[in-house]
Amino acid sequence: MGMREQLLSLVVKTSIDLPPDVEGALEKALSLSEKGSGEEAALRTMLSNAAMAREKRMPICQDTGTLMFVVEASSSLKRNEFQEAAEWAVAEATRLGVLRQNCVNSLTGKNTGNNLGVGSPVVHWHEAGEAVSRVTLMLKGGGSENMGIQYSLPDSTLGAGRNLEGVRRCILDAVYRAQGQGCAPGILGVCIGGDRATGYVESKLQLLRKIGERSPEPELAELEERLLKEANSLGIGAMGFGGKTTLLDVFIGWRCRLPASYFVSISYMCWCCRRQTIELTEN
Ligand code: SF4
Repeated sequence: MGMREQLLSLVVKTSIDLPPDVEGALEKALSLSEKGSGEEAALRTMLSNAAMAREKRMPICQDTGTLMFVVEASSSLKRNEFQEAAEWAVAEATRLGVLRQNCVNSLTGKNTGNNLGVGSPVVHWHEAGEAVSRVTLMLKGGGSENMGIQYSLPDSTLGAGRNLEGVRRCILDAVYRAQGQGCAPGILGVCIGGDRATGYVESKLQLLRKIGERSPEPELAELEERLLKEANSLGIGAMGFGGKTTLLDVFIGWRCRLPASYFVSISYMCWCCRRQTIELTEN
């Protein structure tokens, strides 16, 4: 199979097949929900939606979201050839109805019709130097993207200083502000440090971790577990209907920062956490 076809398979799988760790986390949330509650109904709908999408090979959600490719490139993979193949795959998946036409020209307000345009798809390119290239695709829904937020510490309104307690306060504030909007139960990707741009990039890359995968940094792993429990005790629940599961997980990464700044960048991913990875066979 050529690169175009392999990338088309990746796009299709990402759009129709909710990853098993996310589905498992939704099932766990369902088992914890109160019988007859709005939360129970919402979670049942999400799970049956995911099953139907897989069976009928239809998009799990009408919100295609931002198409973000993360490429760990072997030395033989050419960036321009990858870009051409990725754009073909996105346009073809749109033509086949596996992706809804969701890319809008910001100046004219017109839909581009094929999910391609200035800045779409997003490609993060890393020279991995290994024999095989790995390509990950994430579809990041717009409703959840609207719930992303960036804090600059210290923040006197939150009593948040430049330390992990300050980071904790920011994260709980973000969850509280969202109140289930952005299609809870969600997953938080967080970056401590970096600048405004790289902080958000790192927060999105954190969303590629699997549910339950803890940070290799012991203090961040502890904070992730603590925040998951605390956020889920806020009572916001699935879709904000009230309940026990507001978040499915919290992933915290970090980057070095400048002495003058301390950003906490938070990307919110909805329950429809679409991400898949393939190894590219080059020929
Ligand atoms: S935020 Fe997620 S679940 Fe909600 S409409 Fe967008 S893609 Fe779908």
